[in-house]
Amino acid sequence: MLIDFVLNISITITGIYLFHRLQYLEDRRFIDSDIFQALLMTTLSVLLLMVPIHMYDMVFSLYFIPLLILVKYSVPYLIIVSVLVVFMFHHMIFNFDWQLYLIFFILYILIMMILPFLKFQKLKELTAASIIFTSLYVISIHIFVQPLSVFQMIVFILASTLVMFVAMMMYEDINMILRLLKRYEEEEYKDFLTQLGNVKALDNTVVELLEESDTLSMLLIDIDNFSLINDEHSHASGDAMIRQMAHLLNNHAPTGGMLFRSSGEEFSMVIPDLSFDRTVRLAEAIRNSVERANFHINDTDTVHLTVSIGVGYQVVVPHTKGRLLKEADDMVHAAKKQGQNRVMFNPL
Ligand code: GH3
Ligand code: MG
Ligand code: MG
Repeated sequence: MLIDFVLNISITITGIYLFHRLQYLEDRRFIDSDIFQALLMTTLSVLLLMVPIHMYDMVFSLYFIPLLILVKYSVPYLIIVSVLVVFMFHHMIFNFDWQLYLIFFILYILIMMILPFLKFQKLKELTAASIIFTSLYVISIHIFVQPLSVFQMIVFILASTLVMFVAMMMYEDINMILRLLKRYEEEEYKDFLTQLGNVKALDNTVVELLEESDTLSMLLIDIDNFSLINDEHSHASGDAMIRQMAHLLNNHAPTGGMLFRSSGEEFSMVIPDLSFDRTVRLAEAIRNSVERANFHINDTDTVHLTVSIGVGYQVVVPHTKGRLLKEADDMVHAAKKQGQNRVMFNPL
């Protein structure tokens, strides 16, 4: 009996781990999908059916534990499909017992209905659900299917609670690790202040767009005299300006265009397949709109800002990323030299 029990726990935790790991190798977004959760729990349930726990003259299976977990993580129609698949296997492994199925089904629906009202954390919630389910299950089996001793009932309840607890711990831990990993990966390419892509994201996007598009436009947008804002007001006001500027610039990004915060008070907009003429007009429209905008320093005071914009334009030949960045950079410096608040470009 002990061996059966250890086998049940091992199958549950290895199953949960392997499924997550396999998905992680492939498409990471798939991990949270309802279908994936249903597939995982159905397979686990069938595996548990294959290693029932033998105790004296009684044989019981903890196949219902993955199905209980599923109630928390999937949607009703998939849950029902999973239950039906498990019933089918149950029928193939054990004998068909409509009383048992009926008991299971009624209790399962009951748990589906009361689970939303259990307001614990998932681990405690599902352990509690498992205790309720198993208690009602053994009592019903005792009354309708075959008589059980109190000892058998207690062992059955204890075994299922323990397996549920371990399974949920593993399940939640893996989910937490994957969530943290995802956040870490996202933040590597994100600017914390504006939530725009950072310079790394810009670099990757330029490389990608140079492969996919015929022309690539780049606007390097640098706020004029920004150090004065920090000096005259505060660093926090400066931060607020940068956020408002990001918002304003983002509203000007045409379809397909993307905005990045490439460094402190400097933004880059890249736009694939936009003509040179339109690129210059876009830059001029942005410059003009910044000049006219009010930037809020606090609830009552506003300031005006201007930007200098360097335009880089590339008819794409492979491996020309460096030239595009350099051209926009040279142009923004030229704009500053000529007195700021202007758009500079190399005529084609
Ligand atoms: P120019 O017109 O020549 O661009 O002058 P500038 O003052 O804008 O340029 P400079 O490069 O001399 O200074 C940029 C300033 O931007 C320096 C720094 O204090 C400020 N800055 C950079 N990043 C941040 C930030 O995240 N928050 C705040 N508040 N200020 C920043
Ligand atoms: Mg600058
Ligand atoms: Mg500046």
